[in-house]
Amino acid sequence: MAAKLDIANAPQNGAGETSALAEKHLVQPWPVAGSIGAEARGAIESGDGIYVVDGEGRRLIDGPAGMWCVNVGHRRAELAEVLHDQAMALSYNSPWYTTNQPSAALAERLAAHAPGDLSHVFYTTGGSSAVETALRFMQFLNNVRGRPEKKLIVSRQGGYHGSTYLSASLNGRPRDHDWMDSATDQVAKLACPNPFRRPAGQSEAEFCDRLVEEFRALIEERGPERIGAFIAEPIMASGGVIVPPEGYLRRMRTLCSEHDILFIADEVVTAFGRLGEVFASKAVFGLEPDMITFAKGVTSGYFPLGGVMISSRLLESLRQSNHSDAMFAHGLTYSSHPIGCAVALRNLDILEDGLLDHVKAISGYFQKRLKSLESLPLVGEVRGMGLMACIECVADRVSNNPLTLDLEVGKRIDRHCQELGLLVRPLINMCVMSPPLTISTAQIGDMVAILDASIRRAMDELV
Ligand code: PLP
Repeated sequence: MAAKLDIANAPQNGAGETSALAEKHLVQPWPVAGSIGAEARGAIESGDGIYVVDGEGRRLIDGPAGMWCVNVGHRRAELAEVLHDQAMALSYNSPWYTTNQPSAALAERLAAHAPGDLSHVFYTTGGSSAVETALRFMQFLNNVRGRPEKKLIVSRQGGYHGSTYLSASLNGRPRDHDWMDSATDQVAKLACPNPFRRPAGQSEAEFCDRLVEEFRALIEERGPERIGAFIAEPIMASGGVIVPPEGYLRRMRTLCSEHDILFIADEVVTAFGRLGEVFASKAVFGLEPDMITFAKGVTSGYFPLGGVMISSRLLESLRQSNHSDAMFAHGLTYSSHPIGCAVALRNLDILEDGLLDHVKAISGYFQKRLKSLESLPLVGEVRGMGLMACIECVADRVSNNPLTLDLEVGKRIDRHCQELGLLVRPLINMCVMSPPLTISTAQIGDMVAILDASIRRAMDELV
């Protein structure tokens, strides 16, 4: 019999060794051609609560909670136990022919939290596959309904929806399409609803009017009979935590309803507590979408899982159609994974057992303390909601013009933050913060102090 693996006492690769092995054999996500398949990235060895420990043994606050996902924090014994127990009870079953208890129980609980008539869930392996599923479902629906031309997908500049072909085609951040192909014939993009970058002299309300008007004009120009879906992150996350103007999402929803265009809320980041709610669409923005995509925080990153909440009205319309034998030929080997769903159930317990309330209680303090960084001349704006925020640096505070890319100010701040004990997510001129939801006021204080010192160091370098 093989010896039991003793993870706690297992020999660790040295930090250098892990990075060197990765450099030799890994193609890392989002590489550039010049170092693809040969890039050294720092190793993270362990995690505990809001902290991770890097390969040199330094303890760092996990400012982005991994990738906006470690919502309940690292090293949760109760999640580790569920992973073990579910693997021992049932590690896998084919979702093609069978079902399992955790996925059904989780579906019931998600439906209870979801707005409107989003009573059903299709499970996927993450966010990209969730978005891809929602889009393919829209295509299937319109094919079955006898309107195969109603397929155009409307997304926004600045948005991010994934890395599979169709989901990636929706992305609208700088560099997303510079060297990558995309399904341009299937997608139309609207302006980014970023109040900070609205035209000079325009009020936020006027800016909102213009955005809604732009959508109305697009519907008129392309024809409502050609537009299948509008997809939006309620708050654009990796585009720079862009909180849209008040009323924007509801007004876009109204336009969608008027023209039978499906509204897909991409809540891969905003769900599972980031804004203090299980789903933010209705509770925070008064929005009832036709579908909600989710991933990340559903398992706090302990297991890859995502899904799409789907309106029962849409499902009923399929059941009532003239093509009852039309097949939604779409499914993933790991759809409804019992371990992922069991972890998600326990993760939901933790969120409901006080963590959502904690987020609601502490968000104001988090935003206020980060906002104080606007006193630094390099900082153009600090914005956010709940426990997600973005610090945007500018060339000068009068014009708010962006800094040139070559200055790599986000990376500079990140480097200084790491020296001082904080991981941040650098995005060109921005740093994004979305810590584990368990963060305390004292830890927020530490985070802001490190950011303040690091931005000052970056300013010294740039003069
Ligand atoms: N949608 C949003 C809003 C995201 O932020 C992301 C990932 O960051 C995705 C979709 C894609 O998720 P995944 O990386 O799990 O495929």
